[in-house]
Amino acid sequence: MEINAIHVDLNSAMLRPETVRAMLRAAADAGKNAVLWEVEDKIRWESCPDVPHPDAMSKDAFRALLDESRALGLEPIPLLQTFGHAEYVLSKERRKAMRELPEFHDCYCTSDPDARAFLRAFAAEYREVFGPLRFFHFGGDEAYRFGSCPLCSKRDRFGLYAEHLLDVTAETRAAGVRVLIWDDMVRHDPARLAAALPPGEVALCHWVYGPWPDGPDAFAPPTDFSKAAELAALGFGVATCGAASCWGDDPFLPRYARHAPNLVSARAAGAPLLGSVDTSWTVRLVPKRLQLPLFAADPAAALARELPGLAPDAALSALRRVSRWEADWQHFLGVGWNGMKDSSPPPPGLFAQRAAERPAFLERLRANAAALRAGVEAAAAEIAAAHPDADPGSFAGILLEGAALKCGLVRALEGAAGAGPALPADGLAALRARTAAYYGREMTPGTAARAAEIVWGVFG
Ligand SMILES: [Zn+2]
Repeated sequence: MEINAIHVDLNSAMLRPETVRAMLRAAADAGKNAVLWEVEDKIRWESCPDVPHPDAMSKDAFRALLDESRALGLEPIPLLQTFGHAEYVLSKERRKAMRELPEFHDCYCTSDPDARAFLRAFAAEYREVFGPLRFFHFGGDEAYRFGSCPLCSKRDRFGLYAEHLLDVTAETRAAGVRVLIWDDMVRHDPARLAAALPPGEVALCHWVYGPWPDGPDAFAPPTDFSKAAELAALGFGVATCGAASCWGDDPFLPRYARHAPNLVSARAAGAPLLGSVDTSWTVRLVPKRLQLPLFAADPAAALARELPGLAPDAALSALRRVSRWEADWQHFLGVGWNGMKDSSPPPPGLFAQRAAERPAFLERLRANAAALRAGVEAAAAEIAAAHPDADPGSFAGILLEGAALKCGLVRALEGAAGAGPALPADGLAALRARTAAYYGREMTPGTAARAAEIVWGVFG
């Protein structure tokens, strides 16, 4: 398998260097051979000097991390978004002219020659920082505004997609580097993209994380990667992607019952193809430490080893129950509230607005929240009883703090939905402070505080 990767994602939060190192070590221990680096504004780029995050690394600091990852046998694969998810660039005043639609700051106008020149220069700087490469990922996922401006909307979408991709990747391909993109924008008609691209020029990262309650029908169950072979038959290289955290998780714990079989299925489907990537979306805020066992070849065995006070079956049962969540409650949370990956805190009153827009989801929240919370509390109590001396920084310690915060969040949701007493302001403030400390184990203090604001601001 050419690619057997994990995804290190610095979108939305800056991970502490020791957090990244723990991910790299876990990847190496799991027998991985590559890292997909989504670094965005967390490096001080010269081709985009107006975007650096306050906690951004110098290029030299990042090169040191790359050296460490190479020493662990992990080949770097950079990811540069070139269609959508460019919030970190297009939110800046001087970059507004490159937007597809003036009121949305996620998508580039793919007809704009200035945007293409900017992206080619940015890609060149990526190649300079990353050094020799075999693969370079150019993003392309969830670009919902793609092709919608007055200029682009006159074009054939697949023709424009292929033209933009070939243009911004021209120097990269000429350097002998293979181009990867996410497949979701083209998966409904991949044959048309195949026809619009020179054969073998682009490989697809086919991601399936499971159905969304109100998402597009194209999203299969989390173990169904049958479309991968279909894409390969069209001549695409195909890497399959499961997730260790994704849309639909609560902001504290990964849904183990979903992610473990999802990742195992993705790897099995990708093994005879180009390979697989275990993705981990930092915008979902779930601690990386709780995801590390999912990167193992046998996630269930690795998870059971994290809770040595319980027999393996009991450990897995407790993990399934403590991490249960109703994905459609996502709509009431501040995480990704505006559909953007810009980690902006939610506006006050968001809960009431969403509740009015989604009465069926609100009804399910009222009906199910107390039972879900009781199940989480019972599972957490079993884990706590079996690990009475768990260090707060251990897997069990982080898991139990996450379970407590999650129960606080469910209580707050119950209160907001009129299914229980509203949490008092000082109770919310205490939960917010604990949440900042919870995320602060792995994130820089500034991004951890912002993450806590994203979770709790919805009740403000
Ligand atoms: Zn356009």
